[in-house]
Amino acid sequence: MFFKQIQQHSDNFSYIIADESTKEAVVVDSSFNAEEIIKIIKSQKLKLKYIINTHGHSDHTAGNAELVSIFGAKILAHKQSKIPYDIPLEDNEVFSMGRISIKILYTSGHTLDSICLLVNNQKLLTGDTLFVGECGRTDFVGGNSKSMYESLFNKLLPLDDNVEVYPGHDYGPKPTSTIGYEKKTNYTLQPRSLKDFMEFMSQP
Ligand SMILES: [Zn+2]
Repeated sequence: MFFKQIQQHSDNFSYIIADESTKEAVVVDSSFNAEEIIKIIKSQKLKLKYIINTHGHSDHTAGNAELVSIFGAKILAHKQSKIPYDIPLEDNEVFSMGRISIKILYTSGHTLDSICLLVNNQKLLTGDTLFVGECGRTDFVGGNSKSMYESLFNKLLPLDDNVEVYPGHDYGPKPTSTIGYEKKTNYTLQPRSLKDFMEFMSQP
């Protein structure tokens, strides 16, 4: 599997995932990184088929139009997303591309359309749900601290400790992590009741 984390003009990360035999590729969150993404797609001779957005915030979708115009890629987003998409995604759906499988985990809380992507059961792309050392804000439109609790504690933390974490922003002391490391060190993931978590997120 070809897998690359990209950060060019901001703290937003984009990801390119490709099957090395078919050269088919997917970009997760084009963000402000289109120029670098185009360079890599061309130099690696990849075929960009899909763009998946972890949620509809414009800092994550900023490069979509440019990538679509150059490569004709299809846009995928959670079915409740307000962004224009070609293919809707649902919780627990498995999206396959060659030997790559991407399981969609619906993780609302930061927004109503937030998803995380589990790639080959090994790499978790967490968008703005989970960062290295932090979790996503719940005080934007569509944010909900109860949903964030359920997403973090019932969907992400039960994953294997070895699952690698690839966030949507470079907010932490390092660009990637693992579920096990975050469980131990991330102050937002320390054991709390739902009530305590909601107070902690300042959204009683
Ligand atoms: Zn966001």
